Amino acid sequence: MAKTKEPRCARCPTRVCEGWGRKASDGPPSLEKAPAFCPMKLMPGVIDEAMSEYEKPEVREFARLASLQEFECYERLPDGLRTKIPRVEELIQFARKCGYKRLGIAHCGGLADEARILTDILENKGFEVISVQCKTGAVPKERIGLRAEEKIFEPENWETMCNPIAQALVMNRSNVDMAIMLGLCIGHDTLFIKYCNVPLTVLAVKDRVFGHNPLAALYLSGSYYGRLMTKTE
Ligand code: SF4
Repeated sequence: MAKTKEPRCARCPTRVCEGWGRKASDGPPSLEKAPAFCPMKLMPGVIDEAMSEYEKPEVREFARLASLQEFECYERLPDGLRTKIPRVEELIQFARKCGYKRLGIAHCGGLADEARILTDILENKGFEVISVQCKTGAVPKERIGLRAEEKIFEPENWETMCNPIAQALVMNRSNVDMAIMLGLCIGHDTLFIKYCNVPLTVLAVKDRVFGHNPLAALYLSGSYYGRLMTKTE
């Protein structure tokens, strides 16, 4: 478990940083009710450092457009806020806001159909779309030290390794304005993020059980997936 003097927003009983119920004219919320592990108390220098990054005009504008996109996802109706824009439409709207013309999809071979559909959607909305799937390179898994018995199908069969570094390099060299991750495996996504040098967003992460919706396991952690909550080393 993390030490008490480390940031743990997920355990915060107050979330005073959100400032709910305050008027803009009230100014920022007091930190008095923030817990001792609050990053605003522990690392005020980091917040200042982050804010100085937003002083850079291109960063500030990108952040402004992202928050504008967030705003546009809600309708304020008499009975309260209503959400109205699925992620894929947000992707289209945000890319347009940023003036992006050329998009790149980095997808899993297991989501080839989804990659084709996403390509159709984005092309129909006027974008140029390139794509590269994880098996590009056709390099056998043995090259990174996988043993025959660690292959998913038959040990004696050829299995091509997922190659997220190659996917990232293809993105970097294809002059895309933004890369879109679609269903990369855990760890492979980490490598892709590490090596991708263009602006990057995620449409979906892989979850083989829950139709690429990993939060379903959290929603069921009090019932069918209770095993997630049992304490183990
Ligand atoms: S930033 Fe501070 S107040 Fe906000 S959720 Fe984290 S611990 Fe709580």
